[in-house]
Amino acid sequence: MEYGVALVTGAGSGIGQGVALRLARLGARVVVTDISEAGIEETLDLIAAEGGKATGQQLDVTNAASIEAAFASAEAWDKPVDVLVNNAGIVALHSFLDFPIDDWTRVMAVNVTGALLCAQRAGRAMVKQGYGRIVNIASVSGIRAGVGRTAYGTSKAAMIGLTRQIALELAPHGVTANAVAPGAIVTPLTRDNYTEETAATLLPMIPARRMGEAADIAAAVAYLASPDAGYVNGEILVVDGGYVAGGMTQTGSLNLVDTERDR
Ligand code: NAP
Repeated sequence: MEYGVALVTGAGSGIGQGVALRLARLGARVVVTDISEAGIEETLDLIAAEGGKATGQQLDVTNAASIEAAFASAEAWDKPVDVLVNNAGIVALHSFLDFPIDDWTRVMAVNVTGALLCAQRAGRAMVKQGYGRIVNIASVSGIRAGVGRTAYGTSKAAMIGLTRQIALELAPHGVTANAVAPGAIVTPLTRDNYTEETAATLLPMIPARRMGEAADIAAAVAYLASPDAGYVNGEILVVDGGYVAGGMTQTGSLNLVDTERDR
């Protein structure tokens, strides 16, 4: 199964780094991009240590010239990208009534407009070559509301809509667009935004009773980015330990699984 050239945004940290590593392990030639040069170097070192093939490009998803330069450089390095993973994303948490418009604009610019611009640039070349895989990193926050997530949650709901728009229009050209919607994943982003209290309230709502790892998301992305997923299009794959599926989590005196019992 050939992945070809895969460009990952925000690949210098957390989920993006996990995705870049996983795709490199699977034989993709990976274009590691991020706004942060230090993050790019870290991911390139990790890939090189495993013998993978990768190149690094600084790419700010809010800057069209930076996007064009990174894609052009990837094409000069190898060929037009076969896989785009729109992973770069930021969070700003405020109560709804006091949500500052500057933070709203900043979150939308990175999480939504940035993904759109990268998908347009990648999509044009993919249509030309008659093949492509676009995987957008959405969030369970785009499906269920969360306190403080007026901009973030709305941006991730938009990412889900954007995924379906791309899927519909590019499907006839051999290009698929799908999204992965992660639940709570251990990364620098959640480390900075989750208090101990947040984690304590969250865990009982996750049937798996643990936060996810970047590797959990990377495995889902690897499938959607593969040639094997050619008939999967416009799908939103939730990877959250059962958080969205769950409702009532308290069992009271009901013992759901008695490991002592003969089954
Ligand atoms: P992270 O560790 O903060 O990684 C995000 C990366 O994107 C960072 O390297 C960041 O650089 C970079 N970035 C920020 N602004 C950028 C820009 N304008 N252009 C290019 N890169 C930029 O976060 P993460 O937790 O891995 O999140 C990755 C994606 O998963 C995001 O879209 C996030 O919304 C989504 N997600 C995360 C979770 C979770 O629980 N962690 C859950 C659901 C969805 P700097 O560090 O220099 O800013």
